[in-house]
Amino acid sequence: MLVNLVDVLKLAEERQCAVGAFNTPNLECIHAVLHAAEKLNVPVILSHAQLHEEVSPLGKIGPVMVLAAQRAKVPVCVHLDHCETLDYMREALDLGFTGVMYDGSLLPYAENLANTQKAVAMAKPYGAGVEAELGALASREGGASNASGPVYTDPDEAVVFCRETGIDAFAPSFGTAHGIYKAKPVLDLDRVKVIAEKTGLPLVMHGGSGVSPEDYRTGIRNGLRKINYYSYMSKAGTNAVRELLAREDVTFFHDLAYAAEQAMEADAEKAMRVFAGL
Ligand SMILES: [Zn+2]
Repeated sequence: MLVNLVDVLKLAEERQCAVGAFNTPNLECIHAVLHAAEKLNVPVILSHAQLHEEVSPLGKIGPVMVLAAQRAKVPVCVHLDHCETLDYMREALDLGFTGVMYDGSLLPYAENLANTQKAVAMAKPYGAGVEAELGALASREGGASNASGPVYTDPDEAVVFCRETGIDAFAPSFGTAHGIYKAKPVLDLDRVKVIAEKTGLPLVMHGGSGVSPEDYRTGIRNGLRKINYYSYMSKAGTNAVRELLAREDVTFFHDLAYAAEQAMEADAEKAMRVFAGL
């Protein structure tokens, strides 16, 4: 069933676990994630990143995500990830998305604050929850590195930001990066704890791929309630296709797509087990 971001995060809080948020730029990803969530009977978030607009336009994949969520046997939030323009956000809300992330993290503080306030005002009449970010990750979505490097979120600044924007979920910067890690990430999970306590909001981990199960567990204990995970799932799909092509003379694309879907489902299931504490 389709639920909003606030409700799905409430479930995570009640269960003292985190909900996985998976980018789903195509049908195979949607099936992989929903099958895994239904198998484990856990709530889940399907995300669309503005970054994927070229390969997977919001107007094309968005309605499919919403329909799939409505028909799912578990609570599913359909969320817009890293939205940098309010017009794009409006498009997602009109399609029935139940959560949006406004990302003004590269803007000066005052501008990020003002735009996030506008995003909250825009999402409210739709009944959608809003996530926002303060501080900057070591790399942008898509793996491109941040010219200025990571900017860790200051807990006191976070308190003011969360209070003045009225957001429902907060994404702090504490050492994770988007994409595939080249070296083991060093995470400041104490910072997560302090920010969770001071803001009282569910926190979001971006760049969830490649983090150790132990760090996930500590992060969840410290207040992470949404974990964005995509790169490793997608990579599992590519690997499965590569292996199948090396093994067999495949003619039909649907056989490749199905192999990718099954591998992505297995990878998503593994991640969900850790996030849910199963
Ligand atoms: Zn992200």
